[in-house]
Amino acid sequence: MSESQETLSNLLQETRRFPPPAELAENANVTADAYDEAAADRLAFWEKQARRLSWSREWDQVLDWSNPPFAKWFVGGELNVAYNCVDRHVEAGRGAKVAFHWEGEPGDTRTLTYADLQREVNKAANALLELGVRKGDRVAIYLPMIPELPVSMLACARIGATHSVVFGGFSADALRTRIDDAQAKLVITADGGYRRGKPSALKPTVDEAVEATKSVEHVLVVRRTGEDVVQNGRDVWWHDLVDRQSDQHDAEAHDAEHPLYILYTSGTTGKPKGILHTTGGYLTQVAYTHHAVFDLKPGSDVYWCSADIGWVTGHSYIVYGPLANGATSVMYEGTPDTPHKGRWWEIIQKYKVTIFYTAPTAIRTFMKWGDDIPAQYDLSSLRVLGSVGEPINPEAYVWYRENIGGGHCPVVDTWWQTETGAVMISPLPGVTAGKPGAAMRPLPGIVADVVDDQGNPVPDGGGGFLVLKEPWPSMLRTIWGDDERFVKTYWSRFEDMYFAGDGAKKDDDGDIWLLGRVDDVMLVSGHNISTTEVESALVSHPKVAEAAVVGATDPVTGQAIVAFVIPRGSAGEEVEGDEFARELRDHVARSLGPIAKPRQIMIVPELPKTRSGKIMRRLLKDVAENRSIGDVTTLADSTVMDLISQKLPSAKTED
Ligand code: ATP
Ligand code: MG
Repeated sequence: MSESQETLSNLLQETRRFPPPAELAENANVTADAYDEAAADRLAFWEKQARRLSWSREWDQVLDWSNPPFAKWFVGGELNVAYNCVDRHVEAGRGAKVAFHWEGEPGDTRTLTYADLQREVNKAANALLELGVRKGDRVAIYLPMIPELPVSMLACARIGATHSVVFGGFSADALRTRIDDAQAKLVITADGGYRRGKPSALKPTVDEAVEATKSVEHVLVVRRTGEDVVQNGRDVWWHDLVDRQSDQHDAEAHDAEHPLYILYTSGTTGKPKGILHTTGGYLTQVAYTHHAVFDLKPGSDVYWCSADIGWVTGHSYIVYGPLANGATSVMYEGTPDTPHKGRWWEIIQKYKVTIFYTAPTAIRTFMKWGDDIPAQYDLSSLRVLGSVGEPINPEAYVWYRENIGGGHCPVVDTWWQTETGAVMISPLPGVTAGKPGAAMRPLPGIVADVVDDQGNPVPDGGGGFLVLKEPWPSMLRTIWGDDERFVKTYWSRFEDMYFAGDGAKKDDDGDIWLLGRVDDVMLVSGHNISTTEVESALVSHPKVAEAAVVGATDPVTGQAIVAFVIPRGSAGEEVEGDEFARELRDHVARSLGPIAKPRQIMIVPELPKTRSGKIMRRLLKDVAENRSIGDVTTLADSTVMDLISQKLPSAKTED
């Protein structure tokens, strides 16, 4: 039945190219020769990058890969992460430089210089010690996006305690399982945070979670919203304990492989995994990639990553990477539509942000809200834009570049995972002629490929499984407490390769395009079709803001494509009915070929997303196949599934 032997079809043809602006290319931190340099001697390349950091003891060996897949990087080296992120900048005379311009949702602000940050981190480190936290202990951090969050992480890193940041929107049950899994001794939280214009309590959730755990000795509570907080014997106010500490603390160096943090994956596909990251290799790669991918000039740039620190993007690109590089960053507490839908653009205008890093889900939301909103703000300070979290649809990329980047900012589409710790595949803004929707090439020092189901590289133009063929410094070291699951999940599908779970294709130039998770691939009449390509074709229709597609069992074709579509801003009213569905189905057939034509299109007001903003296709598949809906606990808004289910009767099927 199949006419092609491809693992994954390559349907989308995209010919737009955006070469780097001349000025950026001329002054770029990283130029094309970095690829050759790293290819010639990968370990020497990473050794050179490790020298960006300040080590108390140099390593004896760059990489120990004698017991794969358990890697050790910079063996024998010793360093302190907090010293590298804070103290050394102060010692170099940059104490007055702003580390964070913090913006609270209600409009209150705080400015933390590197000297301020040093004092705060030292006080917090001393407070942790007073509470009996020691090197090797685990600390759960459940805070809103306030300065005490990075301060707490750095305080842990300073004393060698391993932090586990849990996203502030998670339930008591999710928090409890993460506390138990890591056996955390301390929980750092707040009375609450501001979200969507009102205080949202955190402490009651912590009380409920901690009630059922045995490991927690103390709960350290930051006052943010002034909510009434029930005091337990184990509770300590941050302002009582931390404020009276000495702001001096001598940082001890830790082994390069000392556990820095545990972070649970976002749970798009199943039960979250406690990913373990260590010290030296992690900091090396986040510092290098932040320098290379964003072309960060610490003297002049103002950098903003809009992610929540509860996700890996916030760990690597709000806290560790930018601070290791001495960057000035913006940090924002709240939601993009509070008090109005232009809040983010207002922040960019206010702080003259030059580098902005966000997720496709946010970009598509702004497309839906309309071009007129960002147009009201002065965004001319921007020079580099980044995207992470999901494949970026070409149309969303172009919208981002035009409406936010003024038509001149390069967009770097950065592919990576909680497991990889740092960016792995991405354009370099001063080197790469960007293709909308492509993550392009593995970064210097990274060896990635797209392979078929036998593990053989696919030719240019072919699609398959994305794999990493050599260890990398910021790689996960294991799943916390479960080496066996680590080996089984990532290293057993293909021999000697890390399999990331994602599908990808190489275009005719050999550049890499992400095609979504292989679990989501649809098998239609013998063709493996990626969700990403069909979604991108839908989003390229001028009336579509967001789309999610799934394969539903079909008696004729094996699986048939079912699409869920959110219309764009003003298109909202005119789209009900069969006519629009037909228009979209024809549009997809024209863009990708008749094989990719959806059987069914449903117009919906929202899509089910995880708390980190990723579309949860498995729930849509339940809808498409008329099953009762599966586990919704990692959904940001569980009522969305009701809204979608109500839409079912009006679903339009094959004409
Ligand atoms: P879980 O593994 O628990 O299901 P998750 O995979 O959603 O959760 P993360 O580690 O936050 O958790 O997400 C990594 C995944 O996000 C990648 O494997 C990939 O599917 C997707 N992703 C991230 N960045 C990109 C990108 N630039 N292009 C395409 N996909 C991306
Ligand atoms: Mg994953």
